[in-house]
Amino acid sequence: MLKTNQIRLVFACTVLLTLFGLTACSQQPAPQVIYLTFDDGPDPKFTPSLLDVLEKHGVKATLFVTGENAEKHPEIVRSAFEAGHTIGNHSYQHGRASDMSFEEIAQSYERTDKIIRSITGQQEILFRAPYLDISPDNRSYLCKVGSNSVDIDMMGWDWETQDPLEIIDNILHKQATNAPETELNPVVLLHDSGQGEFGTRQGTVDATDMFIPMMLAKGFVFADEPPAHKWQLSEKDCSGVK
Ligand SMILES: [Zn+2]
Repeated sequence: MLKTNQIRLVFACTVLLTLFGLTACSQQPAPQVIYLTFDDGPDPKFTPSLLDVLEKHGVKATLFVTGENAEKHPEIVRSAFEAGHTIGNHSYQHGRASDMSFEEIAQSYERTDKIIRSITGQQEILFRAPYLDISPDNRSYLCKVGSNSVDIDMMGWDWETQDPLEIIDNILHKQATNAPETELNPVVLLHDSGQGEFGTRQGTVDATDMFIPMMLAKGFVFADEPPAHKWQLSEKDCSGVK
């Protein structure tokens, strides 16, 4: 069945062809691009399982690690990086930015940047705020240092369930908190650590294993790099920030 945006494209092309005889419209629409991100790791048990699943399907992702976990398991961070994944900064101890001062925020991110650099040698390091909490101080810090914050479009809500089918259903149907562009080249948020009440992340690993072929069958392409337009703090975001 045609999706709404495909129907719109077909309609627009029909109009353009009738009016101007354009030939570009006879081409297939570009495939939708999707990108996976995993927060809170690395976890000694579930991150290696997740990396195996990603390798099996030939898909790259960004792992937003906490500095504390990366310090405990540098070999997992290194093997993820060497496998072609991107390592992002998810703060040192997963603190909520609204509860932290500018100095505490800066210290937490800078410490984590240093740990990631010492393990991977990455210079540019992407950032995602724990709890997606971009407080004014957090924004000020990011604007000041020019760090890039990665937004999300779809979430597995895998802190509420470890049933893989429910996680997939959440990704596809439960709207993310800030998802104006949902379903347009989406960035997906899942978690490879922080098991909470479930004591496991196996559901997330299994959901990933099922979700990738499902999306490929729908015609999606998994990007090798995080899509640029999703992460850049714009001039508008930083205007007036001291
Ligand atoms: Zn987190």
